Amino acid sequence: MKVNSIGKGLKSSPVRHESPLLSISPFGKDFRAVLIFPGTYSIASSSLAFHQIFRLIGQHPDWSCERAVVEPSMPTRSIELNRSLGEFDLIAFTVPFESGYLQVIEALLSSSVPVYARERGPGDPIVLMGGIAAAANPDVMAPFVDLFLLGEAEASLPAALEKIAQLLRGGCPRSTVLEECVNLPGAYVPSIQGDQPPTISFARTQDMDAFPPCSGWLSPETEFDNTFLFEISRGCPCGCRFCMIRLSQKPLRAVSVDRIMELVGQPPPAGSGSEWRDGTSADRAGRGSGCLPPPI
Ligand code: SF4
Repeated sequence: MKVNSIGKGLKSSPVRHESPLLSISPFGKDFRAVLIFPGTYSIASSSLAFHQIFRLIGQHPDWSCERAVVEPSMPTRSIELNRSLGEFDLIAFTVPFESGYLQVIEALLSSSVPVYARERGPGDPIVLMGGIAAAANPDVMAPFVDLFLLGEAEASLPAALEKIAQLLRGGCPRSTVLEECVNLPGAYVPSIQGDQPPTISFARTQDMDAFPPCSGWLSPETEFDNTFLFEISRGCPCGCRFCMIRLSQKPLRAVSVDRIMELVGQPPPAGSGSEWRDGTSADRAGRGSGCLPPPI
């Protein structure tokens, strides 16, 4: 196993000043995952995908989940417990932009996990990648990734977590775990299917009400400054041919009004320091203390 040196001697990520909205513990489950965003904490926390996937993994009965980000000149370690990547069973990257590929490699280089998939063996974590960039062109990262999930996480990740946990619990070797993942929705396993992926159907969720993506924590250190975010629709009715939204997130689907009101329909607790912002121009322009939804 290679130990890389990029992060040697540098400080680990500081604990962030954030208000959790999810009850997700890094302890008490059979298996341990870390979700990594290939960018800084500020950008990661501004991404609803990062919140949503943290929720999907951390609320799975078999998986504890911690988060990590890739800050310049710092080793990538978990935010919650400052663990190194090699301490996890699963390393999950969500990559929205192609520029994030470099940070994926940087994160692996700053850990004891071999960068190339072919160099990983028993005892190494499974490196998983999803996100629009991965769906657009997984070939580029195929040498570094054990398992891609192409498409929407809500439609692919729960089944993958279930299958991997079941196989690990049964004592299956890493190679068998990956072989068994080939038939999962949206899965692509380069070590088995080759560097040129076969035609793989994107996994897509049909029921936007089941897992409506919304903030899992509030933080002043994001682009949206302590604001609760949620996704009211996915996809786009326009057909711009250059656009990945058009290609990967069709058809257009919406969260129901009732579900939206469940998420945001209650005022924040008195004395919480939070307040409603109703989307007026002043709110949109300003950086207030944000609105606080009920726990989800
Ligand atoms: S660029 Fe994409 S998201 Fe924007 S209008 Fe065109 S298809 Fe829709």
